[in-house]
Amino acid sequence: MAIPPGDPTVTETGEAVTVMDVGGTTLRVGTFDPRSGRLSDVRRMPVDGMARHPDAPVPVLQRQVVDQIVREAERRAEARPGTAPAAPPALAVAFAGPVARDGTVLGAPTVWGAGGKPVPLREDLSARLSVPVLVVNDLTAAAWRYGTESPVPFCLLTISSGIGNKVFRDGDVLLDIEGYGGELGHWTCDRSPDAPLCDCGGRGHLGAIASGRGVLAAVRRAAASDPTGYARSAPARAGAADPRFLGNPEIARAVRDGDPFTTAVLRSTLVHLAAAVGGVFASIGIRRYVLMGGFALAIGERYRVLLVEELVRQGCFGLTAAQVDAMVVLGEDDDDHGLIGVGRIMGSRLAAHREKVTL
Ligand SMILES: [Zn+2]
Repeated sequence: MAIPPGDPTVTETGEAVTVMDVGGTTLRVGTFDPRSGRLSDVRRMPVDGMARHPDAPVPVLQRQVVDQIVREAERRAEARPGTAPAAPPALAVAFAGPVARDGTVLGAPTVWGAGGKPVPLREDLSARLSVPVLVVNDLTAAAWRYGTESPVPFCLLTISSGIGNKVFRDGDVLLDIEGYGGELGHWTCDRSPDAPLCDCGGRGHLGAIASGRGVLAAVRRAAASDPTGYARSAPARAGAADPRFLGNPEIARAVRDGDPFTTAVLRSTLVHLAAAVGGVFASIGIRRYVLMGGFALAIGERYRVLLVEELVRQGCFGLTAAQVDAMVVLGEDDDDHGLIGVGRIMGSRLAAHREKVTL
């Protein structure tokens, strides 16, 4: 099949893939060409889940989200002039929640709320769309974005409203076959009885303490216990005199600008994140950590430096401070990780099954 001029989404083998990234609030849809690695025609829309319909029952939201994915995949297939009668594109979905190897979504608290039965998403979508379908966890997908560029094993750490991680080695993400792994955010790092509550219902989990949401809560607690100190802080002087009106953007700006109050609070949460990183390093020797997530990237280099300082203070067995500094890097500051990563996974699967597509 010839490549129609001016259409970068069509390859000689017809392998352009529709890619989706289903998050708690946003559904991203794009077209990915595995041969060139090019992502194009990205659209973003609100997910038809819990964020839009907070009172709807989980089974209703599950159905709505699956329907929305089908609708957008069909729309994307129709919007490809010049490709008929070629087969509609394969679909690769990165999903915010644990996903079993067979593409079953085991849970998605941020998308359709806690509880609910597992959804055999890959099976449902391939039955309804009649195209090869791949469904993987969104962080697993994101790890693939960096996997082909990193010659050494690495750990992706996302610090946004929650915390997650994935370890990538030898072209694959290290996960249990049922999807376990990558949940450092639910590691219990504070065992005190009044430790912050996590979204999952647990107490003292890393994600409740060192995520963007956790740091915001910590700044508010610090403001309540030291109102004079808070009144002198950058966010208070910039207008958030009442810490209830404080948000993560104000905290990120204050830390970037070197505000002592907010920086001290952030440092107190990084103690736990550094302990988690130190544990991963000490147990399996990962020497590269890629920081992602809206909160970490909003602070940027200063966040990386503060985490490195805490890691050096706690010590990474056998490493010098310079070696610790070299092992923590910032990821790309965009939201295309899931789309590019899941497109790459699908591209490699399609290449492997070129003779007989049995995804
Ligand atoms: Zn938790």
